[in-house]
Amino acid sequence: MSWSSASSAGRRRGAAEGRAPVPYRENPMAYEPPRLCGCNPRRKAPRWISWSAQNPGRRYYVCMDAMNGRGCGYVEWHDDPLPRFWSHLLGYLRDEMWRLRASGNSARSEEDSETRTSVVDSVAQATIKAMEIELKEKDAEIARMKAKYENVIFVLFALVFGLVAGKTLMQ
Ligand SMILES: [Zn+2]
Repeated sequence: MSWSSASSAGRRRGAAEGRAPVPYRENPMAYEPPRLCGCNPRRKAPRWISWSAQNPGRRYYVCMDAMNGRGCGYVEWHDDPLPRFWSHLLGYLRDEMWRLRASGNSARSEEDSETRTSVVDSVAQATIKAMEIELKEKDAEIARMKAKYENVIFVLFALVFGLVAGKTLMQ
């Protein structure tokens, strides 16, 4: 199994999103410890569920921008390869689910659009979460810098004060 098929699955996501056989119940950003992609700055990679032919139901991490066909190309499996039996079973269930959806499509078009909306919502929420995490990291960095400079200023002040005091005593 090569990464190229995993990333092409990622690129196909936009079209296949509404057809995922199970809802994306997992929040793609709610996992620990974070896996960082190769972008500059490095970012927490969302975790998705693959529904590709070779790896149905297998979770993987991918660069946040892979969906738009951009990003650093980072992709990594979370789950070990599934035993063939499970892989075939999940593939069979996926195909059955797609077949049932297709046959009952007109009756359930409203429900489908609801599913699509919730997927869009969860992607939007994941993006907002990631931005919040980035902001928090920036805040922490600013706080660290501030503390560092406050120390430097204090040491300089102590030095100047010491020199002045020393001079005054010597006179
Ligand atoms: Zn990246």
